[in-house]
Order: sequence, then structure tokens, then C-alpha cells
Amino acid sequence: MPKKETILGVDVSNETYDSLVKQLFHYINEGKQSFIVAVNPEKIMKAKADDHLRELINSADYQIPDGVGVLIASKLKGGDIRDRITGIDLMMELVKEAANQGKSIFLYGAKPGVADKAMEELLRQFPNLKIAGVIHGYKKEQIEIIEEINNSQADILFVAMGSPRQEEWIRENRSKLNVKVLQGVGGSFDVLSGSIKRAPAGFRKFGLEWLYRLILEPSRWKRQLALPKFLIMVLKNKK
Ligand code: UDP
Repeated sequence: MPKKETILGVDVSNETYDSLVKQLFHYINEGKQSFIVAVNPEKIMKAKADDHLRELINSADYQIPDGVGVLIASKLKGGDIRDRITGIDLMMELVKEAANQGKSIFLYGAKPGVADKAMEELLRQFPNLKIAGVIHGYKKEQIEIIEEINNSQADILFVAMGSPRQEEWIRENRSKLNVKVLQGVGGSFDVLSGSIKRAPAGFRKFGLEWLYRLILEPSRWKRQLALPKFLIMVLKNKK
């Protein structure tokens, strides 16, 4: 059973990469569907003020803590979420396990050409990975999209259309889809295709992506005040 804590009304899963990947593949083999959304302090703050968004996030099966701020919040509340799980790293763990177990993946989202490049990069890393299909994120014909994904018989669907657009899409369409795992992965195809660079590994290891971005774009400092605001709010709202 998924373990969860609640931060400002938003559910957050307490898992490790290992426990999560194990559960998800167990459910794939049982034919059960799982929907995964990544949450960070920014999304939790927005969801606190927006019932629809909060309900959308809480309707997922797993809410992964994609931000050190979420771990600090858990600690402040006496919770025990200690492992940060980022959307792109979970995607890569799922891809690795899919290649091991012969399960297939589908990439849906990003600008035309980007998901194809992401696919090439995944195949470079995992030559025996089964990629069932790719659709860019600006195609409008919804019925065709659903049909194409179902005809591909993919097991895992990664949706990269930004938040909350991708989560709205997943919630609306999951019951029509035969895929077993649906993960919203934001800008991950852009990163995989090389269109956007991630922070260097040293920064990532210590959860310091924010510092890296601040160095590149000093004007972001105002946006980053959101984190202390979030933590103060968590302290004030013990539930
Ligand atoms: N995107 C898309 N369809 C749309 C709007 C956006 O596929 O109708 C894609 C866009 O090309 C980009 C991603 O969604 O690849 C947005 O990534 P972003 O980094 O903004 O998402 P976040 O991780 O911030 O949620």
C-alpha cells in the first residue's frame, strides 16, 4: 500500500525509488493502473489556494516529493519523508526496469521533434528498450491520440506537457487508456533531448538545483522567496 503524508492539504508519498518501482511493476503485472504526479513547494502552495488543483493532485495514486522543500516540510511536521524523488529520475528508473522486464513505454508531449530526440537518447542508454510510440504535445485530435496509444499496447505512458496540463489530461483520459502507469514528467523530454540542461550532478546530489539556477539567473531570487514562505506556512498549519 502506498504510504502518504499530508502537507497543507496535499498528499505526498513516502517511498524510495526502489519501493516505488517495485510497487509500480507489481501493479503493471496485476493489470492495475497507477497515476504519478510530482509535487514541489510551488505546487503545494498553489494547491492550498486552489481546491480544483488540490483535488487533482490528490486524485493521483502517487505524489512524489520533487523538491528538498517538501522534505524539510515533512521534517518540520514530524513526518519521515527523507527521500527526494524527482520526476525525471523516476522516469529513468522506470525506463531501466521496463528495459529489464521487456515492458514498453510511450512518450507523449513536448514540441514536435523533441520527443523523437528523447526517444533516441533513451535507446542510446537502453538499446533493448521497447518504445511503443511517440506523439508530440501539440496534436489536437484527442480520439486519435487515445487510439494510437492503445493500439501501441504500451505499458507505461510518460506525459510531458507541463503542470497541471499533463495531470488534467491524465485524469480525463486514464479510464480510456490501457496503459498501466501514467506519469506526468513536465519538461523531461526537453532535458533528455538536450534542449534544456539540468544542473550539474554535484548540485543535484545535495538538492541545490535552486542555487545553480540562481547563479545562472540572479533575477530569480524573488521567486525563490517562495520556499521560506512555504516553510513558514507549514509551521503555522500543523495539519
Ligand atoms: N507542452 C506540450 N503541449 C502544450 C504545452 C506545453 O507538449 O500544449 C510541453 C512543452 O513543449 C514543454 C513542456 O510541455 O516540453 C513544459 O515543460 P515545463 O518545463 O514548463 O513543465 P514543468 O516541469 O515546469 O511542469
